[in-house]
Amino acid sequence: MYIFFWAFSLLIQACQGTDRPIGETGAPSGTTQAVPANAAQPGAGVDYLLGKFDPAVHPDFVKVGKPYTDRPGMMLRKESFEAFKKMWEAAQKEDISLKIISSTRNFGQQKNIWEGKWERFAKSAPLPKDRALKILEFSSMPGSSRHHWGSDIDLNDLNNATFETGGKYRKVYEWLNEHAHEYGFCQPYTAGRTQGYHEEKWHWSYSPLSKPFLEEYRKTITDNDIKGFKGAELAAEIGIVQYYVAGINENCK
Ligand SMILES: [Zn+2]
Repeated sequence: MYIFFWAFSLLIQACQGTDRPIGETGAPSGTTQAVPANAAQPGAGVDYLLGKFDPAVHPDFVKVGKPYTDRPGMMLRKESFEAFKKMWEAAQKEDISLKIISSTRNFGQQKNIWEGKWERFAKSAPLPKDRALKILEFSSMPGSSRHHWGSDIDLNDLNNATFETGGKYRKVYEWLNEHAHEYGFCQPYTAGRTQGYHEEKWHWSYSPLSKPFLEEYRKTITDNDIKGFKGAELAAEIGIVQYYVAGINENCK
C-alpha cells in the first residue's frame, strides 16, 4: 500500500510538471521538505499573473454589481467576491458602507493608466527614471499590479486623508483594520514600509488567493518579463519584482 502511494505521488508530480519536493508522503530520503499549505496552485501561469487575459471571458471571474459597486464593468475572482459579500454584509450591519471603486484590471487597462501618467508627468519629471519612480508612488507598471489577479480591490476613495481623522471614511478604515482579516482581507500597502508603493488605505487584498499568486509570481517572473509599455526598460534597474511586487505588508505574505 505504501509503495502504491509513493508511486501515485510520483505520478501526480510528473503530471504537474514540477520538480517541487513532494513532502512526507513517501518522498525518497533527502527530499523530505513538505509543500507549504499555501503553495501556489498549479495553473495560474505567467500570462495570468502578468494580467494578460480578459477577465470578462475567464471562467473563474464574476461580475460585481450593485450594491457592492456603482461602477459598471467590475469583475473579481469568484472566491474574492464571495468573501467580499460576507464582509460587506457585516460592515453594513454596523452602518459601515463599503464600495468597490476598482477591482480587476488587466495588462491593457494598467497600460492605459501607466502611459496616461507617463504623458502627464513628462514636464515635471523629464528624466525617465524620475518619472517612473513618481508614477510608482501609487501606480504599478503593467504586468506587476496585484489588480491583475482578481484578488485585490480599491474601496471608497483613492485618498488616504479621507480615511484618517476628520475624513469622510475614518470609520470605514477603522472597521476594516479591525475586521477585514476575519474575511480573509489584508492591506498590502501599509504605512511604515521601507520599500515599494506609498501607503494606500483603500487597497485590500483577499489573501487566500493573493498569497499563493504572489508566491508563484516571485518564483516564475523576473523584471525582464515586465515589458510592452513606455518606460518598461527601467523595470530591472528599479527592481520592480523585489521592491514593488514583494515590498508589501508582511501580513499579506
Ligand atoms: Zn489598488
